[in-house]
Order: sequence, then structure tokens, then C-alpha cells
Amino acid sequence: MDTPLTTLPPNLDRFLGNARVVEILRRAIELDRLPHALIFAGPSGVGKRTLAILLAQLLNCESRSGKLVCGKCSGCRKIAQGSHPDVRLVEPDGAFIKIEQIRSMIGEIAYQPFEAKYRVVILDPAEQLKVEAANCMLKTLEEPPSRTIIILVTSNPYALLTTIQSRSRLLQFTGISQDSIETFLVQHAGWNPGDAHLAAALSRGSLGNALAFEAGSYLPVRARALSFVSLLLSRGSFAEASRLAASTVKDKEAFPIWMDAVLTILQDLFYAKTAPGRIGQRDILSDLTTLADRTPTGAVASAVRAFDKLRRGLRQNVNRQIALEALFLSETAKQVH
Ligand SMILES: [Zn+2]
Repeated sequence: MDTPLTTLPPNLDRFLGNARVVEILRRAIELDRLPHALIFAGPSGVGKRTLAILLAQLLNCESRSGKLVCGKCSGCRKIAQGSHPDVRLVEPDGAFIKIEQIRSMIGEIAYQPFEAKYRVVILDPAEQLKVEAANCMLKTLEEPPSRTIIILVTSNPYALLTTIQSRSRLLQFTGISQDSIETFLVQHAGWNPGDAHLAAALSRGSLGNALAFEAGSYLPVRARALSFVSLLLSRGSFAEASRLAASTVKDKEAFPIWMDAVLTILQDLFYAKTAPGRIGQRDILSDLTTLADRTPTGAVASAVRAFDKLRRGLRQNVNRQIALEALFLSETAKQVH
């Protein structure tokens, strides 16, 4: 195996979020009716691969009791370390998962597992399967060798061939709630409550995003975003806001963070007007409240919509930043001023 597998929560009860998916898998194992081809679909950073590995442990733990794996037996340990001969992670070699990789995987699973009760193959991210590689595994998905489970992990299940989709059971993962992420960061990752609250508010439901959050680099960018929003929503300061945005757009690294920060501030302003209990960024509460007090709700709502649209546009084509920026500014100018 090329990449060591991540360390795991030791049982299904502690798996964060996606209780419905967890319950479906638990029942299927209990009834011994686990589908042999599964698609784990959903946003990145919500634990799809982690759950796939945990499933491999559940199927192979030497002293499992119900839905708890022991985490200590040789099977559990080898799977966690990525060194189990029967649990295989297939990742892109370069940009894609290639046909050679799939051929080698098929050759391997043609034999009985070496040590395991169940062999588990995890393809991640499955949308990077080359078409010929995907076609090459259709027969295996349809009639896999006995005691073999194939899990395709993807954030974009519709990018998979329909022939792959139709041969697999799709389990849809969703984002994790902000509260669950915040609690996890404080109780299990040892974060201070302030950073945990902010990271959870900005995570968009992804524990991965939250864990990657760095207050040190985020806070200065947010300060710039707050000045921008304040100018944007002030009468007569539009040209200055526009200049600030134009200078930020040139900073390729900070720009996406700045966009997130602007949107999060606007969302919190909207909450300040409508549901103050839902304000995420409590550390700048007084700035937010002051700004909200002098701005009409409609103007905040328009700005949220315009920025959300702009951000989605930028994700699709980063090169159009400046054009979209100009478009947004003219639209927002009409709505706000
Ligand atoms: Zn075990």
C-alpha cells in the first residue's frame, strides 16, 4: 500500500456525524447483508475514507463485540497502519487511477484473502478513475470474489460512469453540524474554545476544513474583510470598498480566504438582524452588532446573495476573478447604494 492509512476513532459510536449512513452499515453487518460494492459519496472532510477503514476493521477485528472494534488485535492495528495485506487503498498514480492499478487489484482479489475474514478495497477519490480503468472493473463489481467489499469514495458520484453507479449501493454523506465539530475540537483535539468556535463556524460542515484552520493566518485576512464589508455597506464609501477588493484580488493565496471571510461576516450580519443566537463569530460580536444596527436587512441579504454567487463562479473558473469581481461590484452597487 502506497499511503499509510489514517488513525481512527475506535468505534462506530464515536464516528462524527452521518448517523444515518453509520446505522445503515451497522444493520447490514448485523444481518450479514453488506453490499459488495459501495459508493461513499459526499463533501470532502466528512470522514468517508475514515468510515471505509473503520468498516474494514469491523469486518476483520478478531475480538469485535457488536459495533465496537477492539483497536488492539493484529487485524485492527495492521488496518490502522495501512499494512494489512487484505485491505487495500487505491489512490491516483499521478492525476488518475490507471487501468494497470485496477488490473493489479483485480489479480490480487482473485485469490482468497491472506489473513482477513473480508478483503476490503478502497478507491479514493473514485472520480479520478480513468474511463478504461473504470470499464475494466465492471465485471468485478458485478460479480466480486467472495468475502470482498469494494468501496468507491467520491465527492462527485455523478462523475462516475453510470455503469459503475448501477452496480454499487450509494451511501450519501452530508456535512457535519457546526456544534458537533466545535465539541469535537474542544473535547478530542484539545483546542481552545475560541478557536474551536471560529474553526467550526468556517468549516462548512467539514471536520477536515476545521482541523486545517489556522487562526494565526486567518485573523489578519478577516480583519481586512471586516473593513471591506463595513465600507461596502456604508453610504458614500463604495469607491473605497471597490479599491480594497481590487487590491485583494491580486493576492492569489489570500483571496479565497478573504472571500470566505467576507461571506461569513455577511452571514453573521444577517443573523444579527434575524437570529442573533446563530451568530458564529462571537469574538467580533460588538463590531457585527454595530454594523448590523446601521444597515437595512435587505442590503445585507442582497450582499450575501451576490457574494455567494461570486464565490460559486470563482470555484468554477478562477481565471475570471477580476471580471466576476467587476460584475459583482456593479450588481451590489445597485442593491446597496
Ligand atoms: Zn480488533
